[in-house]
Amino acid sequence: MFRPILDFALPPRCPICGVTVETDNHFCLSCWQQLDFVAKPWCAACGLPLVFDHPGENLCAKCLVDRPAHDGVRAVVRYDDLSSLIAMRLKYGTRLGLAKLIAEQLQKHVADHADNAILVPVPLHRSRLWRRGFNQSVLIGREIARSSGIALDHDVIIRSKVTPPLRGMSGQQRRKTVDRAFALRPEAQQILAGKSVLLVDDVYTSGSTSNACARLLKKAGANQVLVFCWARVIGNSENI
Ligand SMILES: [Zn+2]
Ligand SMILES: [Zn+2]
Repeated sequence: MFRPILDFALPPRCPICGVTVETDNHFCLSCWQQLDFVAKPWCAACGLPLVFDHPGENLCAKCLVDRPAHDGVRAVVRYDDLSSLIAMRLKYGTRLGLAKLIAEQLQKHVADHADNAILVPVPLHRSRLWRRGFNQSVLIGREIARSSGIALDHDVIIRSKVTPPLRGMSGQQRRKTVDRAFALRPEAQQILAGKSVLLVDDVYTSGSTSNACARLLKKAGANQVLVFCWARVIGNSENI
């Protein structure tokens, strides 16, 4: 009830360090400069930043051997202490407005892939949704939908099982675990056939979750699946 009054009375603050800024949900210059933005060239399949352009298609060593089911990853920043703080504040609801900031940062990538596209946020299991009250990927997806005009479907994929923490699991174990966790809604084929799916997530860790979703989305006829996220883990993801 008092929220609008508070919003009005308090000056906007940097979501990282808390200094006063001009516009709500914008970083201060100092924090902005400390964020590690992901820049080209990156692997065409998994979005891993590469040192130089490769002849032909840009693929990292891992994707050359084992190509993921999704067709690219667009991440705003590298996952580190600073960017994970943003992800946590959105996830646990202390700064829901961050979804808009993240969506704004992803917008330039979305514009390149807007043709015949549909936004699909990575779902949460309903028990988690119930406890937290919202899904951070849906919040980001909604903001992208609002500014791009692309339709969003937040329950074409269902998280049918709670995924146990993937920390410490091998790639194969992760794949097995997440594959069991997702299912498609019965009408998925009508919704997805021939579509370019923009799969929205907050953090891309090992790619297991996105890949499990991409495999399902393609099974239902999606043309391609591109992952859009706030932060991407670069380096060893098995301990995260
Ligand atoms: Zn700051
Ligand atoms: Zn790759």
